[in-house]
Amino acid sequence: MPDDIDRIIQKSYEACASAGVKLTDKRKNVLMVLLGSSTPLSAYEIVERYKIQFGETLPVMSIYRMLDFLIQEKLVHKLETASQYMSCAHIACEHQHETPQFLICDRCGSVKEIAIKKHIMTELERSIQSTGFTLAHQQLELHGVCKHCQDNSVPAN
Ligand SMILES: [Zn+2]
Ligand SMILES: [Zn+2]
Ligand SMILES: [Zn+2]
Repeated sequence: MPDDIDRIIQKSYEACASAGVKLTDKRKNVLMVLLGSSTPLSAYEIVERYKIQFGETLPVMSIYRMLDFLIQEKLVHKLETASQYMSCAHIACEHQHETPQFLICDRCGSVKEIAIKKHIMTELERSIQSTGFTLAHQQLELHGVCKHCQDNSVPAN
């Protein structure tokens, strides 16, 4: 759980209020579940953790609906390739949210959200479109090994 959880939740309420939508208790709880996880979770894993954290079993369909809401409000992101969900790393930030890209560690499963420069994204889209391909999702999901795992790997000797 991040140290500034109260601030993140407060910011989430404010973001929803200014968008004219309501962060209900259940939606907030789903966000709390994701904030409390160091790795992205599937909808079924969210059901499990929700039950443990809040003592209530929700149907996976309502979890999907709440996730849709949270994604819409940019509080949560979906990793398309893995169908997993994670809380946005920039909820408490003042800057505008950019198209997020994700660096996925194949060892520990942690995911880092980074913002890619707009002109790089535009270039990329242009070169993809020039092949006649239609892009469904703009976000990049890149696999590798995170800094933490690299530092902790036992050197082979
Ligand atoms: Zn984000
Ligand atoms: Zn930020
Ligand atoms: Zn790692």
